[in-house]
Amino acid sequence: MDTNWKLETLAIQGGYEPKAGEARIVPIVQSTTFKYDDADYVAKLFDLEVPGFFYTRLGNPTADAFEKKIAQMEGGVAALATSSGQAAITLAMLNICQAGQHIVSASTLYGGTYNLFSSTLPKLGIEVTFVNPDAPAEEIAAAFRPTTRALYAETIGNPGMNVLDFEKFASVAKAQQVPLVIDNTMATPYLCRPFELGANIVVHSATKYIDGHATSLGGVIVDGGTFNWDNGKFPELVEPDASYHGMQYVKTFGPAAYIIKARVQLMRDLGATVAPMNAFLFNLGLHTLPLRMQRHSENALALARHLEAHPAVSWACYPGLASHSSHGRAQKYLPKGASGVLTFGIKGGAAAGKKFMEACKLIALVVHVGDARSCVLHPASTTHRQLSEEQQLSSGVSPDLIRLSVGIEHIDDLIADVDQALAISQK
Ligand SMILES: *Cc1c(COP(=O)(O)O)cnc(C)c1O
Repeated sequence: MDTNWKLETLAIQGGYEPKAGEARIVPIVQSTTFKYDDADYVAKLFDLEVPGFFYTRLGNPTADAFEKKIAQMEGGVAALATSSGQAAITLAMLNICQAGQHIVSASTLYGGTYNLFSSTLPKLGIEVTFVNPDAPAEEIAAAFRPTTRALYAETIGNPGMNVLDFEKFASVAKAQQVPLVIDNTMATPYLCRPFELGANIVVHSATKYIDGHATSLGGVIVDGGTFNWDNGKFPELVEPDASYHGMQYVKTFGPAAYIIKARVQLMRDLGATVAPMNAFLFNLGLHTLPLRMQRHSENALALARHLEAHPAVSWACYPGLASHSSHGRAQKYLPKGASGVLTFGIKGGAAAGKKFMEACKLIALVVHVGDARSCVLHPASTTHRQLSEEQQLSSGVSPDLIRLSVGIEHIDDLIADVDQALAISQK
C-alpha cells in the first residue's frame, strides 16, 4: 500500500494486498479456528510475539482486511471490528473506564448511545455527565472530575444534525488529559476525518453508511495512536495486565496500545466479534463509500432546500442549509457535504407526521439510516420512545420531527414522493 494514496484509492485498494496466486477479492474466511504445525508457534501467537490468527473471536483474516482498510481511511494506526455499533462504543469506553470512573459526553447522541450512557454504564458504576455541546468550553470543562476518563461526542449529532465544534472539544479534552472519543458514523471518513481535528479514538456503527446497503450489523473502533496513555490516569494501559500474564500494553505496543488491549483483553472476555461474512460486506461497502456519500449529501441538500420552502413544512434542519445553527461549522469541518440525514417539522404535528410517513411510497418507513434506499422515521414514537419527553428534547427530538435518511435515488423521484405525501398529510 502507498501511504500517499487518496481516500478514494484506499477505499478500493486498501487493507488487503494479495500475493501471487491468491484471491483478488478479500476471501470470506468462514472458519472459527486456524491450523498449526507445532505448539511453540501457537504459544508465540498467544504471547502476541508473532502476528497471526488462532481463534476468530480475537481475529479473522476477513475482519483484518476490513479493519486495516478503515484504519487507513480514517488515518489511524489500527482498528477493531465488532458485532455492532453499540458493541464498538461499549468496548471503546470499557477499555479505559471502570467502576468509580466517569465520562463527559455531548447530550446530542444517537438514542442507543444515550441509553448506554444514562442507564447501563451507571449500573456498572461508570457515571456519565451530559453537556450541551454548544456550551462554552469552561462549562464543559466544569463537568470534569478527577475520575473522568474520556470526552465523547458525535461528528454529526443524531437526529439534531448539530456539527461538533471539534476545536473546542479537542482543546477541552487535551487540557483535561483525556482522549476525545468521536462517533463518526454519520459523517464517515469520506466527509470528516476526526483524527485530523484532534480526536484520539473513532467509533462507527458500520451498519449505516459503511455497509450502505442495509445488509449487516457491525461496528468498528479506530485508534488514532496519538494519545499519551502514560500520563498517570490510565494505569490499565501502562501497568502489567494480570489477566494477560503481565502484558504491558504501552511498553510493548506503543501507539497501538489502546486497540491491542481492546482486542486481547476485552474482546477476549466479552466476545462481541464481527462475523466474517459481515466484515466482507463492510469491506465491499467501503469500495463505493466515497461515491455514495457524495450522492447522499447532494440529494439531502436538494431535498432540505425543497422542504424548507414547502408550505406544509414549518422548519427544515440540515447542516448544509444556511439557516442551520451549525452551517458555519459544516462548511469548516464537512466541506465535501453534510451526509444524508435531515429532519423537518411537519405542519399539523404528530398526527400529520404519522399520515406523512404512511403516505410515502418510494421512501419506506424503516428504522434505519445510511442505506442506499431512502427511508423515513418519526423518532418520538419509535427510536426515542424509551426516553422521557425531557430526555427526548435534550437529545433534540420534538413531537413534529420527521427524519429522512436520503438515499442515492434520483432527486426528482424523491421530491415527487415527498410532495405527494405532504399533500396527503395536510388533508
Ligand atoms: C446506529 C448507530 C449506532 C449504533 O449502531 P448499531 O450498529 O445499530 O449497534 C451508534 N451511533 C450512531 C450515530 C448510530 O447511527
